[in-house]
Parts: sequence; C-alpha cells; structure tokens
Amino acid sequence: MIERHGRSLALDAIRAGLDRLRASAAPFDAGTFFAECADLLEQDRRPGLQPVINLTGTVLHTNLGRAWAAPEAMEAVMAVMGQPSNLEFDLATGRRGERDSHVEKLLCRITGAEAATLVNNNAAAVLLTLTALAARREVVMSRGELVEIGGAFRIPDIMIRANCKLREVGTTNRTHGRDYEEAIGRSTAALMRVHPSNYQIEGFTSTVDTKTLAAIAHAHEVPMLEDLGSGSLIDLAPYGLPHEPTPQEALADGADVVTFSGDKLLGGPQAGLIVGRKALIDRIRKCPLKRALRLDKMTIAALEATLRLYLDPDRLRQRLPALRLLSRPRDEIRACALRLQPALAAALGARATVEVVDCSSQIGSGSLPVDRLPSAALSIRMAGRGGGSLDRLASRLRALPRPVVGRIHDNALLLDLRCLEADAEAVLVAQLPQLAG
Ligand SMILES: *Cc1c(COP(=O)(O)O)cnc(C)c1O
Repeated sequence: MIERHGRSLALDAIRAGLDRLRASAAPFDAGTFFAECADLLEQDRRPGLQPVINLTGTVLHTNLGRAWAAPEAMEAVMAVMGQPSNLEFDLATGRRGERDSHVEKLLCRITGAEAATLVNNNAAAVLLTLTALAARREVVMSRGELVEIGGAFRIPDIMIRANCKLREVGTTNRTHGRDYEEAIGRSTAALMRVHPSNYQIEGFTSTVDTKTLAAIAHAHEVPMLEDLGSGSLIDLAPYGLPHEPTPQEALADGADVVTFSGDKLLGGPQAGLIVGRKALIDRIRKCPLKRALRLDKMTIAALEATLRLYLDPDRLRQRLPALRLLSRPRDEIRACALRLQPALAAALGARATVEVVDCSSQIGSGSLPVDRLPSAALSIRMAGRGGGSLDRLASRLRALPRPVVGRIHDNALLLDLRCLEADAEAVLVAQLPQLAG
C-alpha cells in the first residue's frame, strides 16, 4: 500500500480501517482487514470530478458538463497547459499582447463582426456588456423576455448587479415596436433583446424582431444589444434540427452587440462570447470588470481549436461531438440499443425486464426548449412493486467505475443511447458484469 499510494495515505486508510473495526463487533482478521484498507484507499483515490456516461437523453446537460470537446480542442489544451505559451505576448513585436487576440479574428471571420471579446461564460458576458455600456442608465426590454436561466441567472437581477435600470415595456405575451419607441428618453443607454431560451409563449403573441428593434434603436442613436443564449454558429436546419438564431444573422439584422455561450450549441468550452461593433467592444474590453471575468489559457486554446473546425463546414458534423450527437439518426441509436439489450438483460437477470423503446431526447441547456429529437432507449422495469428497486438500480449504475446516469420515467429506468458512442459503449459493456448479483 505504501509503495502504491505513499506512506501518508496508507496510514490514513489503516487508521480509518481500525476506527471502523472498533465500531463494529467483528473480530480482527488480518486478511480481511488489509483488504478493506486497500478498498478504502482506492475509494479515496477516485477523483471528485470524473467522466460519466450521459444516458439522460439531454445532450447539452448543464449538470453533466454541457458540450464535450472535439479531439482537436483537447490536443490544443494539452499543448498549452504544461509549458509556457504566447498567451499575452506578441511574437511578432516581442511586446505584450492581448489574450483575446487568438480567438478574435476567427470569431469575426465566422460571424462577420467588427470585433470580439471573451469572458468566462455567457452570464458574465451579459453582466459585463450591461456594466460597460449601460451603468447608471436605462435599458429597455420586453416583459416577455425577462428570463430566468437555471442557477439564479435572472435578467432583472443582472440589471441590478450591472447598476442599470431595467425599463420594462409591453406585456408578457405581446410587445410592439411603439412600446420601445415610447420608452426611449434621455437616460436610455440601449434597447435589448434576450432569447427566451428555456420557454415559449404560444397563442396571441407578438414580439419585435432584431431587424425592427435595431432600426428603432438606430433612429434614436442608441445601441441594440442581443443576448442569444445558445447562438449556434451554423444553420442547424440542414442537420435535421430546428433553426436557432445565429450571431451572424443578429449582426446582419443590425444588432450592435451580441452575446452567446461557448459550451451550448457551439460545442466548445465554457465561455461567454461578445461580438459586435468595434467602438462598443472596445468599451466593453476596457471595463475593469473584464479583468475579473477573463478566460484561462486552456479555455482559449480549446475555443480557438473548436472555432477552427467551423472553417471546414463539410467535416464539422464528423468532428464536433455536440453536432454529431444532436443530429444522430434514430436508426443508429436503435441499433446500439439492440446490440446492448441482451448483455444488459443478462447482467440484471430475472429481476428486471429490458426492452428497446423509442423515446425523445432533448437538446438541453435551454436551447430550443420545445423541440424533441427522435431517439431510442433501453427501458428497464423491475419485477415486484414500488419504485424503490428502480431507485436502487439507478444508484448502482451511478456507482460503477464509469458512472452511468439515466432517467426514471413512468416506472421505468430509461437509458437513452443518443450520447453513447463506440468508446463509451465498450466501457459500458465491460462494466456490465459488475451489476450482476
Ligand atoms: C444560457 C444562457 C445564458 C447563460 O449562459 P452561460 O454560458 O450558462 O453563463 C444567458 N442568457 C441566455 C439567453 C441563455 O440561454
């Protein structure tokens, strides 16, 4: 044990083992005792943050780390994390450089923006943009867009933090151009649109689109800000997915500053991307808060590599996991389910029935909340009554060396296989025998 883990950890495990032995009535047996201590040590070595197999059916699952990286992004991170890099150093002049510069040109090329800057996530991007452009002044927004994103990100609260005054106009279901126009006054800093990421208002509704709102803003010489949330960088329709507004479209329609996430539909690392007019981006970049929200070099490396994949749209689906998984056809997922069904049924034995069923996955992260993706799952039902045994099975799946997370629905444990690609499938098959017994 000392050879494998070091003296200090071995000692801790033996002490913990002795405490446990004293608390129990069991007699001392050297073999059992040291086996238990070795077990404790192995458990102690298991990292807190670890890979899991996401069979929840939510692809960009915020609690499971949202988008996962393309191999190109992982290589780029590896290259800069263990040695010095030109993070803030201009190799041409030998002088101090800008950390955003590595990504700015790419982002401008892809979105058509004049300038771009980056922060830690999109919540930070919105906070920073409002602080830099609208502190102590008013921001006009529709009552239909006062969004709460998960984890206590609420637009009205962010306005307070940014020290600006929210001027609500219109109603929950209907807001018109004239509502914004009537609200514009001397203290107006900007008009803003926020993508209602995680809900949809249906029925008797009316919203003002980006083009119209930008025209109103510009007629009154104030900027128009748009928080897109997901902000896909490509039209998703050719991949069989519902269209999501892109930053390119928002900018072309006249938005002056557009913010969006790096790890939602874009498929990159956690980051907040801010693109738009150079004069405004310069003001955002100079705001003191920017320094507190800046990106780490690993994120910049991953983001740059991910954005480079977008320069070759023909191979994007093949290379970008988020897009590949979101557009995975049901037939392929069902084939995977049919392959796994006998092995899972054998591992669970007579206590459970395992069926291949059709189901729907969701995109997740508040993207396209209403749309569902046709998928397939293994549906496990336990013999006997009560949900207890199903909960126990779910917890045993989570206790596997590579934890497996499914979802319980209608008295069945559903393992939606959309996100199970070949590597993870092999891992899952290899650990199935541990479920037996
Ligand atoms: C997701 C989202 C955010 C927050 O983005 P994070 O990258 O999670 O910080 C902000 N606004 C909208 C509209 C969103 O959908």
